[in-house]
Amino acid sequence: MGTIKLHNKHFKKYISAKKIKIAIDKMASLVAKDCKDEVPIFIGILNGSFMFAADFVRAYNGNCEMSFVKLASYSGTDSTGNVKQLVGLNENLEGRTVIILEDIIDTGTTLEEIYNIFRHQKLKQLKIATLFFKPDVFRKELHIDYIGLSIPDKFIVGYGLDYNGLGRNLADIYQLTTHKMTNIVLFGPPGAGKGTQADVLKDKYNLVHISTGDVFRYNIKNQTDLGKLAKSFMDKGDLVPDEVTIDMLKAEVEKNPDANGFIFDGFPRTESQAKALDAFLEEKGQSINGMVALEVAEDLLVARLLKRGETSGRSDDQDESKIRNRFNEYETKTSILKNYYADQNKYFGVDGVGNIEEITERLSSVFDTL
Ligand code: AMP
Repeated sequence: MGTIKLHNKHFKKYISAKKIKIAIDKMASLVAKDCKDEVPIFIGILNGSFMFAADFVRAYNGNCEMSFVKLASYSGTDSTGNVKQLVGLNENLEGRTVIILEDIIDTGTTLEEIYNIFRHQKLKQLKIATLFFKPDVFRKELHIDYIGLSIPDKFIVGYGLDYNGLGRNLADIYQLTTHKMTNIVLFGPPGAGKGTQADVLKDKYNLVHISTGDVFRYNIKNQTDLGKLAKSFMDKGDLVPDEVTIDMLKAEVEKNPDANGFIFDGFPRTESQAKALDAFLEEKGQSINGMVALEVAEDLLVARLLKRGETSGRSDDQDESKIRNRFNEYETKTSILKNYYADQNKYFGVDGVGNIEEITERLSSVFDTL
C-alpha cells in the first residue's frame, strides 16, 4: 500500500526497501575497505538503528563486533537540566576502532553527545556512519564519515524510525503527507457532458481525471479479465458490481501517488461506492471536497446519447432501450447520491444546458470555491 496511518497522521511511501539496501551495501563495502585488517566494533544507537545495524553487519564483509547502546536522558542536578548518558556499553573500547551506526542525523545534537561521551574512552579512532542525513538542518561542525542517503528535511518513519513508537517495523521509509488534495466528484446522468468537461477541467486545475467508464472500456478493448467481466453488464446498460468497480477505482487512484487531487467521473454511482470512496480517502488523510453535478433534463439526454452513438462506437449509446436502462439505473441507484453529499453540504448543482465553454465557466466558478 502507498500510504499508511500512524496514530493520527498519514504517511506515504518515500524510499523503497530496495533503495535502502543498495545504500547500505555501498556503505558496508566502503567501511570494510577503510578498515582493512582491523576488527572494528560497530555500535548501534538504539532504538532507531536496530534494522540498519542488522542489515549493515550482514552486508559487512570482514570480522567485526557489534554492540548497541541507548542514549538516555536523566534529569541532572546541574542547571542544564537534561544530561545524556549511555546505557548498555559494557565493552572495553580502549585502543579500538569504534564505528557508530546511526539511523538518522538531522540537527546533530545526538551526534554531539556521542562525540562527547566517546571522547573519554581512549579509542584508537571514532567514526560515524549514518543511514540518513539531513544536510539542510545539520547545525554542527562535526565530521560524519559515512552517509547512506542524504534527504531533505522531511519527517520520515519506517526501517527502524518511529512516530510516537509506531512504524519501526516497516521495511520501506515513509514520509509525512502534508498536502491536502482537491477531490471532486463530477456528477450527472449519462450524457450530461461529464467526460467533455472533465477533460478541460483536469488541465485547468491540475487534477487527475478518472473515468470508471473509460477504464472499463479500455479493459474491454484489451480483453483483460476485468474487461470480460464488465462487458456483460455494460452491454445491457447495467452497473458493474460494486466490489469490482471499487477495487478498480482504488487501483487507479494508487497509480497517481503525487496527484494534487482527482476528478471522479462516473464514480461513485451507488451509495456503497460513495461510502467506500470516503473510507478510502480517509485512510489517506484526504476527503471529497464536493460533488459538482451537471443538471440536464432526461429527454435532452436521450437525444444527445443517440447522436453520440452515431460516432462514439459505444454500443450502449446506440440503442434507446439500453439508454433508458442506464437512466433507470441512474434514477434508482445513483441519483440518491445527491442527498448523500447534500447532507454533508457538499452538493453543487450546475445547469448543464448550453455550449461547452459556458458550462465550463459555470463549473469553474464552483471549482474555484472548493
Ligand atoms: P460511463 O462511461 O460513465 O457512462 O459508463 C459506462 C458504463 O460503465 C456504465 O453504464 C456501467 O455499466 C459501467 N460503469 C461505469 N462506472 C461505473 C460505476 N461507478 N459503477 C458501476 N458501473 C460503472
